[in-house]
Amino acid sequence: MKQIRNFINGEFVGAGRPFDKRSPLSNRVIAQVAEATRDEVDAAVQAARAALAGPWGRITVAERVDLLYAVANEITRRFDDFLEAECADTGKPRSLASHIDIPRGASNFKIFADVVKNVPSEFFEMATPDGKGAINYGYRTPIGVVGVICPWNLPLLLMTWKVGPALACGNTVVVKPSEETPQTATLLGEVMNTVGVPRGVYNVVHGFGPNSAGEFVTRHPQIDAITFTGETRTGEAIMKAAATGARPVSLEMGGKNAAIVFADCDFDAAIEGTLRSVFANCGQVCLGTERVYVERPIFDKFVAAMKQGAEGLKLGPPEDKTTGMGPLISKEHQNKVLSYYQVARDEGATIVTGGGVPAMPGELTDGCWVQPTIWIGLPESARVIKEEIFGPCCHIAAFDSEEDVLAKANANDYGLATAIWTQNLSRAHRVAQRMKVGLAWVNSWFLRDLRTPFGGAKQSGIGREGGVHSLEFYTELKNVCIKL
Ligand code: NAD
Repeated sequence: MKQIRNFINGEFVGAGRPFDKRSPLSNRVIAQVAEATRDEVDAAVQAARAALAGPWGRITVAERVDLLYAVANEITRRFDDFLEAECADTGKPRSLASHIDIPRGASNFKIFADVVKNVPSEFFEMATPDGKGAINYGYRTPIGVVGVICPWNLPLLLMTWKVGPALACGNTVVVKPSEETPQTATLLGEVMNTVGVPRGVYNVVHGFGPNSAGEFVTRHPQIDAITFTGETRTGEAIMKAAATGARPVSLEMGGKNAAIVFADCDFDAAIEGTLRSVFANCGQVCLGTERVYVERPIFDKFVAAMKQGAEGLKLGPPEDKTTGMGPLISKEHQNKVLSYYQVARDEGATIVTGGGVPAMPGELTDGCWVQPTIWIGLPESARVIKEEIFGPCCHIAAFDSEEDVLAKANANDYGLATAIWTQNLSRAHRVAQRMKVGLAWVNSWFLRDLRTPFGGAKQSGIGREGGVHSLEFYTELKNVCIKL
């Protein structure tokens, strides 16, 4: 049985009780993971502090940039190891992980290395009564030891999205990966050692949230800042923990994203994009669409095409090249999604397709599979239209005007992303600007330039990361004022 250990001060250790990691494909135990004890979390934090005071704190920006490029290149060199680990933990198709998860895991180090290398600082010249003047410049220093708390849906991608900028800015990190996806964060420890990142700069502690590694990290008084991706309720708990010591937080949280499809859209592109945004990664994408609003003249045609697309998705294991959709992450999550499938029935939804568990062959029988599912006919107050499900499902509703759809699409506690499909340029701008979200796509979905701001409005997040915006969180900006 594979053993997965914590990575503390450059070494793999595991004093705590192991817990089982099960395959989403079969529900069989595939690894034993060492749960970090409170003492181990403390050792990780102390190692991270020592590294800040030691060699990592003294290297030049240019040396740091070179090391981060080396990390990215080593991830690419070990691409197959990362791919295998990520697919084993999540059950996602290789075709998806090899195009998104692993390449983005590497590029997250390069992009932020480039940011710290190239972004200038601000400078102001001011007049003084004596006529000699003064100058001001902004000077960025690391914020310190950053606690990084990650989810399971895009494990390596979302973890490096935070570790990349944190290290680029000169911080050290203690990472708590999701208990569901411990492998790639651990593998990254090997990469750090291979390329010579000093001990203690990157630490990984495994475990759960409350009364386990997650809480030990977020409540540790020597963690200087906390960056989190996950559910909004967890984000609230982390914000409370961070309040002690008034430590900054960056929160990327849940979503209930709307797609808005106007009758003048490029129909095939809208169908292709919406199928992806609903079903990619088995619907486990924070930016994914769970509410689709379609202008009435094309409603029936759109629903029929979505049904055909959903029914054409082949469910299967990662290595099968024809697999279009994998399983959900765990039995617990499968039960949650299936409970919403039941809620939809109880609320009186018309089930266009899906709604249950598919029959899977052989060892896949007991995996965490659910059918891709589409509903119509529910009122906007329905729970499956209000609450985040995080599964391969959506409700499709008709709308009659721009005002109508904006009111419906914005009537939600979340505000992460939207996808707008129209060929009318003015309308595209108007609707994008009036949607209360952090990310608005027009005629696309999940098209990401890593230099742009990423984050959520309302209960979907606090703060923005990406490009120069990550510098705001991962550094202290000091003003130096010099009287001439
Ligand atoms: P989760 O909130 O259950 O868990 C996230 C992490 O927090 C895990 O590592 C978990 O162990 C830890 N945790 C749980 N309770 C904790 C506590 N009290 N203190 C400290 N740590 C704690 O989320 P999940 O189920 O892993 O991920 C799915 C959720 O993540 C969805 O809501 C999804 O929308 C959201 N998400 C958001 C984004 C974004 O960028 N906005 C991206 C991906 C996922």
